Amino acid sequence: MTKHSIAVIPGDGIGHEVTPAALEVLDAVGAAHGIEFSRTPLDWSCETYLREGAMMPDDGLERLRGHDAVLLGAVGFPGVADHVSLWGLLIPIRRAFRQYVNLRPVRVFDGIDSPLRDARGIDLVVVRENSEGEYSEIGGRMNRGFPDEMAVQQAVFTRTGVTRVVDYAFTLAGQRRGRVTSATKSNGIVHTLPFWDELVAERAASFPDVAWEQEHIDALAAKLVLRPGHFDVIVGSNLFGDILSDLAAAVGGSIGIAPSANLNPEREFPSMFEPVHGSAPDIVGRGIANPIGAIWSAALMLDHLGHPEAGRRVVAAIADVLANSDVRTPDLGGSASTQEFTEELIRRLKGAA
Ligand code: ATP
Ligand code: MG
Repeated sequence: MTKHSIAVIPGDGIGHEVTPAALEVLDAVGAAHGIEFSRTPLDWSCETYLREGAMMPDDGLERLRGHDAVLLGAVGFPGVADHVSLWGLLIPIRRAFRQYVNLRPVRVFDGIDSPLRDARGIDLVVVRENSEGEYSEIGGRMNRGFPDEMAVQQAVFTRTGVTRVVDYAFTLAGQRRGRVTSATKSNGIVHTLPFWDELVAERAASFPDVAWEQEHIDALAAKLVLRPGHFDVIVGSNLFGDILSDLAAAVGGSIGIAPSANLNPEREFPSMFEPVHGSAPDIVGRGIANPIGAIWSAALMLDHLGHPEAGRRVVAAIADVLANSDVRTPDLGGSASTQEFTEELIRRLKGAA
């Protein structure tokens, strides 16, 4: 029996509906694979912020630190600005725990409609640099209110920061279909992105079995719509990765399906797993939230904790329900509740034993 300790932060809104579904699935697959999870539930959310003035307590990071992973539902609440949850919870966790890889797999499962006419063969992963790049606080505003008003924002690309995320992408591609596409714009951005390109080429030499290419972000975005089946692993800076992962998730059919992982690949600190969607205040409390994003995120957690077989089995069960039944939540055109979908998935997971 392998034991893992998981910090569980359901957060806000439908986070409280999809996180229990993911935990049920983890228990079911854990029982079949000899994995036991001890859970620390943490009531950290925008609602906590409204009550107590902070998303998490002062010693919040210390309390997370001893866990093997963090499972997050969603954070966000009507009237609470995005920067509260970003700076009050997500960014401190990503930074303190060196979660420099943001991983966003995208697949179009059989039985799911994609907005694209030809969505066959979409099975890709966006690897986004999660710690530096364009999202820096360096810069400033000048001459406010005057004709010469201006804003300057600097991007930070470091050899260490780029190399480690590029290495991660090539290693991942080596375990998949062996292709890396690097997002760049070195024809227009003349300092940081040529540096990015050089480092990608330099690291690529260490992965002779992985084919790689670079594409300018504009052409890459177009190709992601026109020929999505072409891609295996796409690696991009913080900004490019952010945009491409949302684009790719939309191609995947529903925001309720998309999973994500914030990884510390060295496992010095816990990594964090969360569905891409937010708290969905418009459907909260109705029991109809799609739990796939949360369940798939839990599968990414299984991979990261060294149980890829268990992770694969969870994803296979998602694919099985979608391809071979009409059980699905309303966002996918069905009439099943979160609970009904989860039960069907667990039934199939156990059946595949
Ligand atoms: P937040 O402020 O928390 O980011 P949001 O409203 O900006 O919330 P989402 O919560 O992602 O963003 O919701 C966007 C839309 O997608 C909403 O209409 C919501 O109901 C829908 N949606 C999001 N997640 C799911 C889900 N898991 N199942 C079904 N519908 C979802
Ligand atoms: Mg939002």
